[in-house]
Formats: sequence, structure tokens, C-alpha cells
Amino acid sequence: MSILSVEDLSFRYNSVEILSNISFSVNYGDYIGLVGPNGSGKTTLIKVILGLFKPDKGNVSLFGVNPLNFKDRHRIGYLPQRTLFNPYFPATVKEIVSLGLLSKKKAPGKFDKSEEGMIGEAIRLMDVLDIKDTLIGELSGGQHQRVLVARAIVNEPDLLILDEPTTALDPETREIFFHNLQDLNKNKNTTIILVTHDIGSIGKYASKLLYLDKGIIFYGSFENFCSSKDMGSYFGEFAQHLICHRHD
Ligand code: ADP
Repeated sequence: MSILSVEDLSFRYNSVEILSNISFSVNYGDYIGLVGPNGSGKTTLIKVILGLFKPDKGNVSLFGVNPLNFKDRHRIGYLPQRTLFNPYFPATVKEIVSLGLLSKKKAPGKFDKSEEGMIGEAIRLMDVLDIKDTLIGELSGGQHQRVLVARAIVNEPDLLILDEPTTALDPETREIFFHNLQDLNKNKNTTIILVTHDIGSIGKYASKLLYLDKGIIFYGSFENFCSSKDMGSYFGEFAQHLICHRHD
């Protein structure tokens, strides 16, 4: 069953067409790597999907609803590309993660037992238990990203969208981060759309590849991408192999 479907979508900034005739659908439990050159429209596509921009043409259905009218925001966890965060803000990791619950909370105040349980689970899943009482200003880049994802998943969203979360991470931390997301996808059945530049490693973790360059160049499983002659001619065999490479 599809969680998201996009049909013949086009979008312009002023008169310049950025997205052109895009159609695809995402099923519950998919883990999609959204890849493409700089300026290929990845962030714009995410913003249209989330209802932050209105398409010029076509339809988007998010949980069966037009995103412009979508109300159940807690069903989606979203980590935008540049998350502005004052590193001197005097809050601990646990406090930052618990902020993710506020959108659902009716009255401010203490968290009840089930909310405390959700906070604990997000902290465990993103592997930040040992630093839960550390101030966020004292974290490394990798720890910081994991805390932001924990905040985005504390509501137990059905769909998690992350826009280039690994840009500031070193390769080893990045692999651990991708692995944590894969656990979340497998164990909680969270559907994930991950915008990334890491075409050399995403194939190890994600189940599908969406390659965008204004239009969709490829959408499907990595297995199909790897065996596609068309993709071999489009990218060249070396680049195709790099994207396919699962390092195992
Ligand atoms: P990507 O995420 O793949 O790098 P973007 O979706 O950010 O691509 O941008 C796609 C294109 O749209 C780029 O050419 C970019 O310069 C242009 N663009 C992005 N934001 C705006 C804006 N607010 N106004 C006009 N053009 C924009």
C-alpha cells in the first residue's frame, strides 16, 4: 500500500521549471535513497511533498490526502537540510529529543509515563543513551545528527524524511548513521526517504534508489538499477558500479 504517491508533478520557481513530469509512489516500509546532482530539485521535491510548496501541475497524495490539507503532522518526521541550532542553547540531549513530542501535546508540563517511554525508545534507537544528559553544545557532529533524528522520530512517525543529514559527518560516522536508520526501518517499519550525496554507500542500506535530475532518471530497487543496461549507458559502467557497490 502506498504512503505517498506523486503523479505527473511539475514545479517552477518563477518561470524556470525545476521539476518536470514526476511520477512515483512510496510503499509502507520502503527505505529510499533520493540522489541526484546539485540543483537537481531534490529539496524542492521534498518541500512539494510536504505541502510547503504548491505544484504547478500534477497531484501529490500523502497518506491519501493532498499535502496542502494534511493535518496529521505527527505522522511525519522531517529533518531539513540546514537545521539551525544554537550550540550554546543550554539543553541536554534528552531535553532536545523530548521537544519532538510537543507538536502532539495538548498542555505543557511534565511528560507522562508513555511519553517518557517514547523518549527513551528514540534515544535507544539512535544510540545516544550514554550521552542523554550531555549538553548539546558538547556533542560531536555525528552525535548531534543522531540527536536531531531522535527528535524527529520520537513521535514514532510512519514516514521519516531526511535532507542530506550526513554532509558534516566523517565516513565512519556516516556508515554508523546509515546503519541506525536501517535498524529503524527494519525494526519499526518506518518508511524513510533519505536525500544524500553518498551514492557509494547508500545502496548498502536503502532498498530503493530514486535518481532525480529535474525528471526521474531511475526509480526502483538497487538490484534493477545495477542490472539495467539503460543505466549503464546513462551513467557509464564505472559510475553505475559505484552506485551499485554494496561492499560485501
Ligand atoms: P537540490 O536539492 O537537488 O540541490 P534544489 O531543489 O535545492 O536542488 O534546487 C533546484 C533548483 O532550484 C536549483 O537550480 C536552485 O538554484 C533553484 N532554487 C532553489 N530554491 C530556489 C528559490 N527559492 N528561488 C528560485 N530558485 C530556487
